[in-house]
Formats: sequence, structure tokens, C-alpha cells
Amino acid sequence: MDHLPGEFIAHLKYVQAHIGHEANAYRAARLLEIQMRVGAENYVLTELDPPVMHLQPWYYGWNNDVIRHELAHIILTWSNVESHLIAEYGSREAAQPVIEAFCHQALAFLQITQPMVDQAVKKHGVSARAVRHLMRLSGASVERALHRLIQDEPDYARAGFLTSGTHIAQVSHCNLPLPFWLFERVPEPTLLFPREANATFSTMPGGLRLIGVCWG
Ligand SMILES: [Zn+2]
Repeated sequence: MDHLPGEFIAHLKYVQAHIGHEANAYRAARLLEIQMRVGAENYVLTELDPPVMHLQPWYYGWNNDVIRHELAHIILTWSNVESHLIAEYGSREAAQPVIEAFCHQALAFLQITQPMVDQAVKKHGVSARAVRHLMRLSGASVERALHRLIQDEPDYARAGFLTSGTHIAQVSHCNLPLPFWLFERVPEPTLLFPREANATFSTMPGGLRLIGVCWG
């Protein structure tokens, strides 16, 4: 079970590399030769070759999270990860919540491509400023940019957080703990990281939200 999230990330990156890291979800689906149809609901028929994506008219033809989510379902089916999940849970129905969670995680990878991450890290290191750089490059939210940077490689040791006022509003971990919990009240989070944590911080415009990133 533990290796499956990392395997899915590796497969996502492999598929994205195959289409030149196209960041526009609609164009990416086209490049992957997925059939796109307008329908009453949003879903994919992954068992067809090529797969067919049905989209409500207001999601068809442009770059949005609904297409990213349906694209993630197709890529999860293409990887061996979905069949492993179904075997592990005993049925597709039992595995469905986990399948949905995997596809939700994939949104950050489909919106923020590997060249964007590589460029941000080259310029700013694994840091809070790299998160801000990823937001500018991709148009993604701060939550998603933080998640993408921290979860980039399953073998790396990285962690990050976002505050809202004096509370921890989001955490993301990859083989590295943080000195507080999600939703905890932490008025001075910057004081809790020793030098060897390689911690960096950046305050968002408005002054209420602090991004923190550390690595080991
Ligand atoms: Zn879904």
C-alpha cells in the first residue's frame, strides 16, 4: 500500500513528460488522444480505447480542475496503481474513496508541471519563495503550490505549512515532521525551527498568511 502514492506520482510525471509537460488540462487531454464529449455530467469511460471524457458544456474546451480530475482518473487507470488499489480493498466500490483521494492529489501535479518546479527550485532552492514562484508560474493557489513542492519526490525529506492569523491552516509532509499540528495555535512558528531544519518563510500580501518550508 505505502508505495502506491509514490508510484502514481511517478506515472503522472511519466505521462506528462510524454506530452511535453503541457500544463493546459484541455490541451493535455487532446495530446493524450482522449475523446472529449459534451454531456450532462462529468465522468470518464476508462475501459474504452481511447478513453472517453464527458464534460458539462461549461467545463468543455478550457483549462480547469474538472478536466484535471477526470484526466487523473484516466492516468490512474493506465498506471497499475488503480488495479492494485481495487485488489487491496477487495472491490472497486470499496476502493472508490481512495481512488478519489489519489485523483484529488494529482491536481497539483497536473497544474504545476515538473519544469515549473525545477525552475522554481533552481532559482530559490527548496524554500517558501519557491512556493510563491510556483504560484506565479502556474496560477495555482498557495495551498496547491506548497503541496506540489513538498510532495515532488517520495524519497525527499520536506515539509511545509501555511498559517492563517495565529493558527496553522495547512500542513504538508514528506518524510519530515513539523513541530506543530494542523489547526494548532502557534503565534510565532518561525521560532520553532532549529538551524538544521533549513527553514525559510515568506509572508503573503496582506500579512495574515505565512508560508513555511523546511527540508532535511
Ligand atoms: Zn472522481
